[in-house]
Amino acid sequence: MVRPPRQDRPPPAAGLLLGRFFGVPVYLSPSWFVIAAIVTFSYTDEVGLLVPGIDRATAAMVGLGIAVLFAVSLLAHELGHVATCLGLGLRVRRVVIFLLGGVSEIEGEPRGPAEEYLVAVAGPLVTLLLAGVFTAGAMTAPGHTIARAMLTILAVSNLIVAVFNLLPGLPLDGGQLLRSGVWRLTGSRLAGTRAAAWTGRALAVLIMVTGMFAVPAGNLVAATGSLLLASLLAVFIWVGAGQALIAATISDRLPQLRLADLIRPSLQVPADLPISEALRRAWQARAQGLIVVDGTGRPTAVVSEARVMAVPEQRRPWTSVAEVSHHLRDELVIPHTLSGPELFERMRASQAMEYVVTDPAGQAIGVVTANDLARLMQQWRAAGGGPRHDTTGAPR
Ligand SMILES: [Zn+2]
Repeated sequence: MVRPPRQDRPPPAAGLLLGRFFGVPVYLSPSWFVIAAIVTFSYTDEVGLLVPGIDRATAAMVGLGIAVLFAVSLLAHELGHVATCLGLGLRVRRVVIFLLGGVSEIEGEPRGPAEEYLVAVAGPLVTLLLAGVFTAGAMTAPGHTIARAMLTILAVSNLIVAVFNLLPGLPLDGGQLLRSGVWRLTGSRLAGTRAAAWTGRALAVLIMVTGMFAVPAGNLVAATGSLLLASLLAVFIWVGAGQALIAATISDRLPQLRLADLIRPSLQVPADLPISEALRRAWQARAQGLIVVDGTGRPTAVVSEARVMAVPEQRRPWTSVAEVSHHLRDELVIPHTLSGPELFERMRASQAMEYVVTDPAGQAIGVVTANDLARLMQQWRAAGGGPRHDTTGAPR
């Protein structure tokens, strides 16, 4: 599955770094070890049945081998998405293998329904291919052997993963396929997201209901396990569908983003001015931002609201604005012509709280803050959801 990342910063470690695929970091989340333990445990008995005479310790080792190969299969699925993205020129932030499957975090969005379709279909195609290869292997392997048991279980697991991920609801791959279809028909990605997010939510309810009624009778451990798994999947899909809707709503409105909606009337102050006096002047001028300027009137720093608030009232007459400011490095300066997705990306990438907007002559016009942008997004979100996830369904 594929989802947009939260920011453009170097990705924080999401677990164990397994390696890089064309520069894209691939992580193994600590939560994967939970599913590995469950897979190992639950396949030990099954391997015992498929390979008569195998001792329990060996069966457990085979179970562990299946868990690892299953993770490799999921990774191959994700790399299918990633390779397609890279081929289309879409950047991928990272790949994470976790409790419920894998996720590829894509930066930017597909430029059309065809791209969306190709990125979405690549993962399940890889998984179906693997299911075919494992099936062929299982059919040629001698009966009642460890190799045949492993290949059979892996073939079935991959088939389940492919089918499950093709279910037509976001955040699953099938949801993205549905979105690409509606996008193609209506010309609106948001319409596609709305449709696929609602089918995603319907799927979540269906999985929960199925989990409640299809519990194995008479086996409390299995019943609890299947209910827990159904709940996890249902919540995961429900939340993912909502996030997809929010992300699509925001990206749909991003072209309307204007600096004029965000810019705060600001006051220019010299670096040595005490905070208390700067605040008094700002209040008098009804300014909501403070920009530090040098002797020639050029902006050199922007006052941090958080740092000001951290200075006790009685210290403010003795603390200069320079001490509570951020030096204006390039990423804190926003040209007044910036708007739309470029403006959003600029602010998201630098992750600062305050920015100074400048005119072509380099003079400060005002301050924009990350909080104001977040508030605006919040208003947009009130209207409506982004990410797509892959889940394995059950590993069996
Ligand atoms: Zn996928």
